[in-house]
Amino acid sequence: MARAVLLTGGNMGPVARNLEEARRRIGERIGTVVAASSMRESEAWGFESDDRFLNQALVVETALDAERLLDACQQIEREMGRVRTPGAGYSSRTMDIDILFYENRVISTERLIVPHPRLEQRDFVLAPLEEVLPGLVHPVSGKTVRQLREELKRRGGG
Ligand code: ADP
Ligand code: MG
Repeated sequence: MARAVLLTGGNMGPVARNLEEARRRIGERIGTVVAASSMRESEAWGFESDDRFLNQALVVETALDAERLLDACQQIEREMGRVRTPGAGYSSRTMDIDILFYENRVISTERLIVPHPRLEQRDFVLAPLEEVLPGLVHPVSGKTVRQLREELKRRGGG
């Protein structure tokens, strides 16, 4: 079994209900959800939108390897109505499921980069993550989630 940390998010439709539904599907098909943050609200990041985002961090015990985990996350996104527009950059979405960590592995393939790149620049990632795993050590920087968040706040970013 591997421990993975996922971030679910969305800003379209009944967002809280969608996050609950994603969590249910993750529990059914990916593994046991052993911890979940609250649903944190944030402004859209990287593009203009009036709809506010909700994000939730989930800690999952899974038998899937990292690539199969990405497949399963993308399958759930598709089922939940995500329409991916190639080259459109950031846009509104009903469901986004990102892999933040997979064990303490460092992965860099065409499809998958783990730990999730730019997570240390985004408070909408670090805030829910800190709720569930404040002491988790980032395998590249060696810093804890708590430290990363404090540094981001000091820089006034996120
Ligand atoms: P974003 O989450 O950055 O808004 P998308 O959800 O559309 O954008 O993902 C774009 C691509 O990112 C996916 O096709 C996927 O292959 C790739 N990707 C790379 N690393 C990860 C990761 N850690 N978690 C999820 N997707 C990833
Ligand atoms: Mg994504």
